[in-house]
Amino acid sequence: MSKGKLIVISAPSGCGKSTVVHALMDIRPNLKFSISATTRAPRIGEVDGKDYFFVSREKFMEMVERDEFLEHAIYVDNCYGTPRKALDEMLDKGLDVILDIDVQGAFQIREKRPDALMVFLMPPSFDDLEKRLILRGKDSLEVIKNRLIAAQEECRVADKFDYVIVNDDVDRAVREFSSIIDKEKNI
Ligand code: 5GP
Repeated sequence: MSKGKLIVISAPSGCGKSTVVHALMDIRPNLKFSISATTRAPRIGEVDGKDYFFVSREKFMEMVERDEFLEHAIYVDNCYGTPRKALDEMLDKGLDVILDIDVQGAFQIREKRPDALMVFLMPPSFDDLEKRLILRGKDSLEVIKNRLIAAQEECRVADKFDYVIVNDDVDRAVREFSSIIDKEKNI
């Protein structure tokens, strides 16, 4: 059986990335989500083992020392990492796997897995992004400010990705993303 496709999606937080990823998985049953570990506190509604593995900083560092992450990075004061074992098991089964990770992690994946498909999801505008972060109501104004600074840095490196999709309309963005995957898999 041939191995699944590794797909990376990066986007500034608040860009609607999880909505796009979930809608994409709904239309592509062969596509699975890689659950990251993070030291960030869960937001309301987030489930441990589904959205993330929520771990202490100490536990995270132990995982780093045991080389359990394919990549890991610090994003706005919290650590995030992609567990290697679960990811490789899914790929070996022929499943496609999507990593929702920041640009630092994406560049580590590009080095380690050069055949990964790298996609950047771009907000239609910074005003729109700020509005979404405020409306989401899940972060303090201080955190929102830091996330907007991070977003500007991230958008600056978007051209290093294989594809940039503008999230001006979720359905359209999902269709575009899905046809890119088909093209890359020669379906
Ligand atoms: P949030 O705290 O909003 O869930 O995520 C913040 C940022 O961390 C997002 O850009 C998200 O894609 C990224 N992220 C989530 N999991 C990982 C991971 O395992 N590795 C890296 N490098 N970034 C991650």
